[in-house]
Amino acid sequence: MTDRYAVFGQPIGHSKSPRIHQFFAGQTGQQLSYTAEEVAPEQFVGSVKAFFAQGGLGLNCTVPLKELAFAFADTKTIRAQRAKAVNTLKLEADGSVLGDNTDGCGLVTDLLDNHAFNLKGSRILLLGAGGASRGIIAPLLGYSPQTVVIANRTVEKAVELAAEFQDIGVISGCGYADLGGQAFDIILNATSASLSGELPPLPQGVLATQGVCYDLAYGDQPTAFVRWGGENGAAHSLDGLGMLVEQAAAAFYLWRGVRPSTHALIELLNAERGMS
Ligand code: NDP
Repeated sequence: MTDRYAVFGQPIGHSKSPRIHQFFAGQTGQQLSYTAEEVAPEQFVGSVKAFFAQGGLGLNCTVPLKELAFAFADTKTIRAQRAKAVNTLKLEADGSVLGDNTDGCGLVTDLLDNHAFNLKGSRILLLGAGGASRGIIAPLLGYSPQTVVIANRTVEKAVELAAEFQDIGVISGCGYADLGGQAFDIILNATSASLSGELPPLPQGVLATQGVCYDLAYGDQPTAFVRWGGENGAAHSLDGLGMLVEQAAAAFYLWRGVRPSTHALIELLNAERGMS
């Protein structure tokens, strides 16, 4: 029987994950199937149990299921515990389910390995205080930036999130209006504003000279934030397609013990959307 994997989410129709994992499987000579399944939060526990009972070996969980996946997992990796969210479930040999979060390492791999950006000593502005932000903060702080400032529409969420990571780096939270007079080397957009074509209200001058913009969201066209970066003199203004591929590669490695190469796939996906 073919080894079964899947991504659960809602909505899920747009997911590139089946294509990405089939590409990795072909490249590494692994026999597996990977499907995308629409699962509502109230169906989550039943659907996951049924999937593993019917021979499934691993799952990705995306919006809005990552916190539910965290609650479901019997054991969690340290990075999942920090993120309080799980995007990868793995059935272990003893029948227990391990929860991991590969979003943060996916982002950092894209920033460092694919784009050769420097995080050490940099001033990082993180927009948004939702699940994606929570998953990437510890991996970012692991590279010793000078500071990470979280800005969010709901200011208390930014302040509370920053407080959770005070023990591992210089980090603070604020509202957008508090950013005036500050400049950052890297601005990461982890809000969902791009999904509706909107932009967080960023003050003039917030991007340092030769600064970099990175939107975790991605699409077939440049997002509003990627365009903002271009219009505001960013040295590079990128979207999160590379992060998507890299978080998938980390999940594939957890499941199969084989690390796929990502460059050819990122090039292919970029060429298909005319962004090579
Ligand atoms: P959440 O719903 O958990 O958080 C959304 C965040 O966006 C909140 O901080 C919210 O602010 C803010 N927000 C929403 N709309 C606006 C707006 N119009 N202006 C300013 N702020 C806004 O979402 P996630 O954290 O799960 O996802 C965030 C983004 O990251 C999505 O675009 C998602 O696609 C992307 N992502 C990409 C991945 C990849 O592999 N490339 C992986 C994971 C996520 P408030 O708290 O005030 O409501």
